[in-house]
Amino acid sequence: MAKRDYYEVLGVSKGASEDEIKKSYRKLAMKYHPDRNPDDKSAEEKFKEASEAYEVLADAEKRSAYDRMGHAAFEGMGGGGFGGANFQDIFSNFGDVFGDLFGGRGQGGGQRQRRGSDLRYVMELTLEEAVKGVKKTITFTAPATCTTCDGKGTQKPEDVVTCTGCQGSGHIRMQQGFFSVNQTCPQCQGRGKMVKNPCGTCRGSGIADRSRTLEVTIPPGVDTGDRVRLSGEGESIGSAGQAGDLYVEIAVREHAVFQRDGADLYMDVPISITDAALGKEVEIPTLDGRVSLKIPEGTQTGRVFRLRGKGVKPVRTSMIGDMLCRVVVDTPVNLTSRQKELLREFQAIEDQHQSQSANKKSFFDKVSEFFGG
Ligand SMILES: [Zn+2]
Ligand SMILES: [Zn+2]
Repeated sequence: MAKRDYYEVLGVSKGASEDEIKKSYRKLAMKYHPDRNPDDKSAEEKFKEASEAYEVLADAEKRSAYDRMGHAAFEGMGGGGFGGANFQDIFSNFGDVFGDLFGGRGQGGGQRQRRGSDLRYVMELTLEEAVKGVKKTITFTAPATCTTCDGKGTQKPEDVVTCTGCQGSGHIRMQQGFFSVNQTCPQCQGRGKMVKNPCGTCRGSGIADRSRTLEVTIPPGVDTGDRVRLSGEGESIGSAGQAGDLYVEIAVREHAVFQRDGADLYMDVPISITDAALGKEVEIPTLDGRVSLKIPEGTQTGRVFRLRGKGVKPVRTSMIGDMLCRVVVDTPVNLTSRQKELLREFQAIEDQHQSQSANKKSFFDKVSEFFGG
């Protein structure tokens, strides 16, 4: 079967942004995910097809190779590129986009051991903390091993007895018509043991909601939406299986001076009319202290100056971004009479002298053209 165009698979245009691609993939994957379409071969095929398209189009390098050469770009690579892509690989990619949406990673098969749920904790950071990294202590309540009974379900070891329902095997045989089937013992949930005087805190389950405090190390360069995974710090289900993970999701607060866009920082630099006209060296803040910025003579409002390497180093790349300073010329207010006098004098000279900027000149040219000369 001929492969469909990756853009067509995801239903996006050739010029689609990373965000559009991600969104579209997310929609398709949710729709065709095997967990939602058990035993549906065509859904599984569509899920694989979308995952493959996403894997290529989400990666700038692979995408540009694909744009140039089409599917041929990946032929002959490790047995036909993705031909033999195994499901777990797709899921490892999947986890980056969805995280805990589907609970455990790769649970589709169902042969895996039970696992506690993943938990999500939203951590607010200042821009400085996000850029430089920080250690924070978080406190949250989640199911964990009961401390009253140390997870045993009772405080006295002699209270743990062999289950009377299954005689300790964890299974019982049930008669269904002509057949006898093996079932997990409902009395002990397959544990084979029962608790005579259950612990008051956890009612014998060994698991209780507990407030926990953890220190979390946030690496430098994180941004809103990034997540730090703390393995095994999610919901605990005791001896029934592995604990889930805790995802600390970052939310960066707005900054009074800087706006961040990926690796770059943006800021407005207000300057006076006279500094804009005559030029001046001004001090501006960066995340590592002050630097000086040379405003050349005749700078217009809206002009942007780029300070290389004064931006942010995002957590997943090694490139440091830039700081972009946009000049905003401030019209003076509350003038003294002397200032007004000087400006009136300036105004009078300006009317005779050609000191207009190129912008202004072309504007007035256009206006006179508009009114017919
Ligand atoms: Zn307990
Ligand atoms: Zn039992």
